Amino acid sequence: MYFRNQFGLLLCCFFGSISCKSQTTSHLPRVLPAVSDTTFVNLKDYSLDFVYDMKYATDANFLKAKVYDCAECFLRLKTVRALLEANEKFMKKGFRIKLFDCYRPLDIQKKMWILVPNPEYVANPAKGSIHNRGGAVDITLVDATGKELDMGTTFDFFGKEAGHNYLNFSQEVLENRALLKKIMNKKGFNSFDSEWWHYNLRTALKDPVANTKWDCN
Ligand SMILES: [Zn+2]
Repeated sequence: MYFRNQFGLLLCCFFGSISCKSQTTSHLPRVLPAVSDTTFVNLKDYSLDFVYDMKYATDANFLKAKVYDCAECFLRLKTVRALLEANEKFMKKGFRIKLFDCYRPLDIQKKMWILVPNPEYVANPAKGSIHNRGGAVDITLVDATGKELDMGTTFDFFGKEAGHNYLNFSQEVLENRALLKKIMNKKGFNSFDSEWWHYNLRTALKDPVANTKWDCN
């Protein structure tokens, strides 16, 4: 079973070919599909204002393997809504959210746990990660030129320097992390102590774990 691109199908049904063509432009119709808050949706159907660097759709990650078939960001609709609000706030300040990871099927979580069985960095698949629940994102910020802000470490750096409590950085790094955290917290996300890039939507913490792969077509 696959998650479908429900928004695209909906637009085609309601508005015919003109709206379908408009999906390929930089302007998206601002009509949200009539689905529940917990339905999995594709972020790009709701906004084209995000920058994508989906690490697990490449082999440039700690698994050293491409474990996603395509670089899509699926999340529950409520997570998308909160993320859109956060990105709007960042854009007013001249930044955008760059995404490293979104929903993650449980089978991928199991592969990660085999390599890094340390709950400070990888959630135990027996419990499941908030990524498996469609409520977590791994992100950073980029400036108007697309350059990443300096957060002190790379994404998926498994060491104490990646933690929010590690303060032995320049003022600039500390301010960049603080900016990311402040707005994400305001928009309903909890930070995660040992990873500056990871944010959990507070209302998604108890949602069920999923293992469905998305449709890349
Ligand atoms: Zn994460």
